[in-house]
Amino acid sequence: MNKLTSSYSPVHVIGGGLAGSEAAWQIAEAGVPVILHEMRGVRGTDAHKTDSLAELVCSNSFRSDDATSNAVGVLHAEMRLAGSIIMRCADLNQVPAGGALAVDREGFAEAVSAAIAAHPLITVLREEIRGLPPKEWDLAIIATGPLTAPDLADAIRAETGADALAFFDAIAPIVHADTIDMDICWHQSRYDKVGPGGTGKDYINCPLKQEEYNAFVDALIAGDKTGFKEWEGTPYFDGCLPIEVMAERGRETLRHGPMKPMGLTNAHNPSVKPYAVVQLRQDNALGTLYNMVGFQTKLKYGAQGEVFRMIPGLEKAEFARLGGLHRNTYINSPTLLDQSLTLKSRAGLRFAGQITGCEGYVESASIGLLAGRFAAAERKGASPAIPPETTAFGALLNHITGGHIVSDDEPGKRSFQPMNVNFGLFPPLDPGALTRPEGAKRFRGKEKASAKKQAMASRALSDCATWLDKNLLIGGAATR
Ligand SMILES: Cc1cc2nc3c(=O)[nH]c(=O)nc-3n(C[C@H](O)[C@H](O)[C@H](O)COP(=O)(O)OP(=O)(O)OC[C@H]3O[C@@H](n4cnc5c(N)ncnc54)[C@H](O)[C@@H]3O)c2cc1C
Repeated sequence: MNKLTSSYSPVHVIGGGLAGSEAAWQIAEAGVPVILHEMRGVRGTDAHKTDSLAELVCSNSFRSDDATSNAVGVLHAEMRLAGSIIMRCADLNQVPAGGALAVDREGFAEAVSAAIAAHPLITVLREEIRGLPPKEWDLAIIATGPLTAPDLADAIRAETGADALAFFDAIAPIVHADTIDMDICWHQSRYDKVGPGGTGKDYINCPLKQEEYNAFVDALIAGDKTGFKEWEGTPYFDGCLPIEVMAERGRETLRHGPMKPMGLTNAHNPSVKPYAVVQLRQDNALGTLYNMVGFQTKLKYGAQGEVFRMIPGLEKAEFARLGGLHRNTYINSPTLLDQSLTLKSRAGLRFAGQITGCEGYVESASIGLLAGRFAAAERKGASPAIPPETTAFGALLNHITGGHIVSDDEPGKRSFQPMNVNFGLFPPLDPGALTRPEGAKRFRGKEKASAKKQAMASRALSDCATWLDKNLLIGGAATR
């Protein structure tokens, strides 16, 4: 292969999945050479089936392509603006799927592989990297995904601290705060405990009567569940039992566990003690998302909606993320990474993709895109330009590197969990940003929610275009 040489020394990218391929592309497009190290071809993973770069391990969907009112659609649009190779190949290999962007998976992965192989500044090496990058790789990105090979995973754990690299199986759903019925629910911390940095009103509580509790437990036990796949044979993480497994252990188990009513008084009906309570805890710094405390689950997605909307106050809940069962490897990014995705303990070493705690193909690729641009800027002697948090790029990056709230009252628990992009991660609109449609007397409910999404989407795209204009990736000095 006749590759170009460049006056810059290369950036090393480990892992040629969604994130690593995008990172390599962005770096090379900036005129900086890249060595992309991908182990498939030498060693497989439990989920990948081919040696192609950017293989989609499960569904073939990039989810909604609606850039006017869907957060992942906005992320698609921002990635297209930034010259994403993943989006370019997805668009070229699109298959009909309504409002979603779905792709021919083989055509897509082959197109990414071909584009990367043909890029004059990218060299692909098929090899397993077994430890942290050697010091002479002064700029490197680890994008080895949720199925990072064991030796490298051990090395990352050793560098970041024993508890920082988390393996988990079940995750709890996250709810958009503005879809919780506060005429039924109330804010209160158990025993009004203020704790360090709390207010005594940090949780949202949903009360259940005895018959509601019994019906809920029955529905949990009867609900359709995901089975373990071969690669998911790891045992449950301590303190992280799926809620339906707890329910199966006895009718009262949940009432003495995550649904215990002690220390809580229903603000709407103080004289009647709830039989059980579901608590939701703020999940992001903006206070727009709340996670269901102790509600990690392996119920199938459809069943989760049905069963969790039986909870009083959550009848109309919209979920930013549903619970799920995965074997997954990710680092505690809010603690370990700086805003430019660099490991605080080691200059020049970045992380990208699902291993940083984002969730999903598009999110992984987008964090690869950012890591690539940041590394290229650094190689060229510039400061990495951080996207504004009003963009989908910035909102997701902000969540990963700093937006997540660590719970004070559950020290040692793994509270940072993988997250899809969603409007709950975006900062609120300025007051007055929403105008009532002409002639409309009222402006609330669904209409208002949809106007809010549209306004956030349009602000994101406009701010992203400005950010990209100011931070053009200019091809560097490359010579054959
Ligand atoms: C089983 C499973 C199913 C999923 N299904 C979906 C889904 O349907 N939809 C969705 O949006 N998201 C899904 N995800 C989540 C996530 O979007 C994907 O895992 C996505 O591929 C993550 O992109 P990535 O680039 O971070 O990792 P990957 O795409 O997994 O890429 C990582 C690459 O690093 C390589 N690698 C690993 N270790 C080494 C090493 N030591 N040396 C060299 N190379 C190495 C791997 O071979 C791989 O090619 C799923 C995840 C899993 C595990």
